[in-house]
Amino acid sequence: ASARVALVTKLIICRGLTCAAEHGEHKNELYDVIISGGGMVGTAMACSLGLDPNLEGKKILLLEAGNKKVMDKVPDAYSTRVSSISPGSATLLSGVGAWDHIMNMRCKPYQKMQVWDACSDALITFDKENLQDEMAYIVENDIIVAALTKQLENLSDQVRVQYKSKVVKYTWPKSHQVADAIPWVQVTLANGQTLQTKLLIGADGPNSMVRREAGIPTVKWNYDQSAVVAVLHLSEPTENNVAWQRFLPTGPIAMLPLSDTESSLVWSTSHRHAEELLQLDEESFVDSINTAFWSNENHSELVETAGSLFRTALSVLMPSAGSARQLPPSVAGIGPKSRVMFPLGMGHASEYIRHRVALIGDAAHRIHPLAGQGANLGFGDVACLTQLLSQAAFNGKDLGAMQHLLEYETERQRHNLPMMAAIDLMKRLYSTNAAPMVVLRTFGLQATNTLPAMKAQIMAFASK
Ligand SMILES: Cc1cc2nc3c(=O)[nH]c(=O)nc-3n(C[C@H](O)[C@H](O)[C@H](O)COP(=O)(O)OP(=O)(O)OC[C@H]3O[C@@H](n4cnc5c(N)ncnc54)[C@H](O)[C@@H]3O)c2cc1C
Repeated sequence: ASARVALVTKLIICRGLTCAAEHGEHKNELYDVIISGGGMVGTAMACSLGLDPNLEGKKILLLEAGNKKVMDKVPDAYSTRVSSISPGSATLLSGVGAWDHIMNMRCKPYQKMQVWDACSDALITFDKENLQDEMAYIVENDIIVAALTKQLENLSDQVRVQYKSKVVKYTWPKSHQVADAIPWVQVTLANGQTLQTKLLIGADGPNSMVRREAGIPTVKWNYDQSAVVAVLHLSEPTENNVAWQRFLPTGPIAMLPLSDTESSLVWSTSHRHAEELLQLDEESFVDSINTAFWSNENHSELVETAGSLFRTALSVLMPSAGSARQLPPSVAGIGPKSRVMFPLGMGHASEYIRHRVALIGDAAHRIHPLAGQGANLGFGDVACLTQLLSQAAFNGKDLGAMQHLLEYETERQRHNLPMMAAIDLMKRLYSTNAAPMVVLRTFGLQATNTLPAMKAQIMAFASK
């Protein structure tokens, strides 16, 4: 009789465990890598690790607080949230098998970029030779995540994914001298589930809880600007292969191509003006956009005279250099329910790593959208961290060890910091219409526009 009781008890325990496993309640289950946050960058990280041959057999888990983002059919209306994806990021997305999905869904390459000052005639253009190669691609953020999610489904043997799984607590490994020390990072979810990992990758966005709880110091400030984004209908169909950005004294306004007839607006301006733009009726909103791109109300005689003298001098020195001004297409309307605003800020974690922790994407660095680089920097982090973890696994090293994590931090900060500093400087340089500053930046922009080698270097840096 006692043997039967033992058998029944064992069956009950086993059924309980199966049930817990089915509901994902793997208490204290140990993973090699847990990625916290499944936005564009975290999902790309999961795909990239899942595909790496040296990491085969490693237990990898992606945790995302939100719902699974699938896209059985591409919606007719464009989303307001888009990203300019650099060739380097396209290569990463292609390497993880998501780029084909993106191309099959929706994506708009562009071949040229024109940036100009609203306070003077100064402009700069960037293009690839003969306008044949793509300079970058405008892709909706939802499409990027959906493409990566689709790819993750093919990697279900390598990467486990838990949606609607918000992390509420991290417990860091303690020193081995402590009696009940757990050598791993412990992750507690809102549903009470606890997990452990040898390496925690924080991809949980600009307000990263991983960064905060790990006590990583962060330099950050809010800009005095919000970005208004919208889908724009153009007055008439055009080739629409140019990204336009004009620096107004209140902030930059950008029009990014989506199709022959539609573009995406990113208008960074004062919080108050952004609120006003959101309240305007459609016709007045469209008028404001066209005025912002076309009006010369911020020009002054002094700056124009200085700028034109400088331009003449440059054309004598370098007769064939420079580029002709083009006019952006005019806007006729906006997409339904397509006006949204986001407060802008900058943030940089002074350390990207701790023992058993690495930060990637906006969790490590948040920048002004004026150069369209935020997600691109994040994809760069993914490529770099994958390569170093792959090498560590190949050499039989502990994935959470400081040695290769330090290499990741050094390599990425070396790339990200100059980019962030340049973007912040540009934001400040163009946030004024004071004549001396306008003259200075007019000379700078005009001179740079006549130096093909320098423009090529800027493009090469931004396309990584
Ligand atoms: C107006 C605007 C325009 C932009 N344009 C461009 C552009 O043209 N090109 C470009 O490269 N970049 C651009 N960016 C920047 C880009 O959008 C961001 O850099 C990018 O979205 C960051 O992605 P991420 O995955 O690091 O973070 P996020 O997108 O913030 O994702 C973080 C994820 O973590 C999850 N999460 C958070 N906390 C938890 C938790 N506790 N538990 C579980 N999950 C959690 C969230 O649900 C979310 O899914 C722009 C930004 C703005 C505001």
